[in-house]
Amino acid sequence: MLDTQQIKDMDAQYVVHTYNRAPFVLERGEGVWLYDTEGKAYLDFVSGIAVNALGHAHPAVVQAIVEQMGRLDHVSNLYHTAPQARLAQMLVQASFADKVFFCNSGAESVEAAIKFARKWARTHYGNDKTDFITLSGAFHGRTLGALALTPRDHYQEPFRPLMPGAKVATFNDLASVEALVDEHTCAVIVEPLQGEGGVNAATPEFLRGLRELCDRNGSLLIYDEVQCGLGRTGTLWAHEPSGVAPDIMTLAKPLAGGLPMGATLMTQAVADAIEPSDHGSTFAANPIAASAAIAVVGIISEPSFLEHVRWCGNYLETGLLKLQEEHDCIQQVRGRGLIWGVECNTAVGPAVNAAAAEGLLVLNAGANVLRLLPPLIIEQEHMDRALTILDQAFGAL
Ligand SMILES: *Cc1c(COP(=O)(O)O)cnc(C)c1O
Repeated sequence: MLDTQQIKDMDAQYVVHTYNRAPFVLERGEGVWLYDTEGKAYLDFVSGIAVNALGHAHPAVVQAIVEQMGRLDHVSNLYHTAPQARLAQMLVQASFADKVFFCNSGAESVEAAIKFARKWARTHYGNDKTDFITLSGAFHGRTLGALALTPRDHYQEPFRPLMPGAKVATFNDLASVEALVDEHTCAVIVEPLQGEGGVNAATPEFLRGLRELCDRNGSLLIYDEVQCGLGRTGTLWAHEPSGVAPDIMTLAKPLAGGLPMGATLMTQAVADAIEPSDHGSTFAANPIAASAAIAVVGIISEPSFLEHVRWCGNYLETGLLKLQEEHDCIQQVRGRGLIWGVECNTAVGPAVNAAAAEGLLVLNAGANVLRLLPPLIIEQEHMDRALTILDQAFGAL
């Protein structure tokens, strides 16, 4: 058995250094708890970055994976498989969409959205409608197309040239989008609630305005719900309260209960522009991931489950607002359901580290925002404990 230091040394020697990791090694997870190699327990308010919506080792997910693993593991998309078809039906019946394309990650679901929007525009308008409008604070992924739509110099600069034709408007400022839309605009892409960008919700008026702008201009509206979708905000889709449907929507993080899976949902009008071999992926909707996703989507879309998320969200908000009263460093508390951002007047790194030392995992969203993404199955006692630890941790700022 490798001890903690040996694992960290091996990682440093053999894994390319693209991540700055926490100083402990995680070994086991159950429900809302994670355990490191020293046996220390952590309350998980990160969920693998909004992935483990049902916590760790949820019995329904474990059962779905184990059963499917013994039946059929992988065959590729040369063949029909039942879990893929069933999952597509569930996602369509629960959303605006008519068709689904499966893939394996958030960035891939955005790349698929880019390609499908391009193909739709080319089919209807010719070859010169290829531009995308993205928004300040957006995060859409690290691949070259998605990166072009992720307007942060630090991420983009070393890798230019990126996909051309990406224009950046200001989040929640409709006039700034209107100023950029023209006959070359293929699509506008927006997160109904920005996660990485600092936990900022799009206003219903903004989404409504984007919808009208896109319709008037013959452009598509793409929602990226990779982080905010599938129950995270207390409704199945983060855009639900706005009542404004997109033409394309990307999903990934929580979809398959911890297994890598993405999905790009679309209307029939978009799907009609897509032909065999336009896009594809070897692993996509792998039967094991798809079976896990069927279990996850089934549980999360239950009205009583979403009610629980909203109840927890209200409870957590009350607790966080109380912390704001007690800590001068806290500037603003914002979020919905079980995604919360606590904006501070200074970098939150020390508070993240202090919380981990006390057995609570949280993360940041930009330098000054402490982000909470607990599993959607948390209970009041877990929130009470987290709030107690956060009270101490903010004292460290
Ligand atoms: C995480 C994220 C992505 C990228 O997902 P990966 O699986 O890391 O490629 C894209 N969009 C949003 C909104 C995300 O939060």
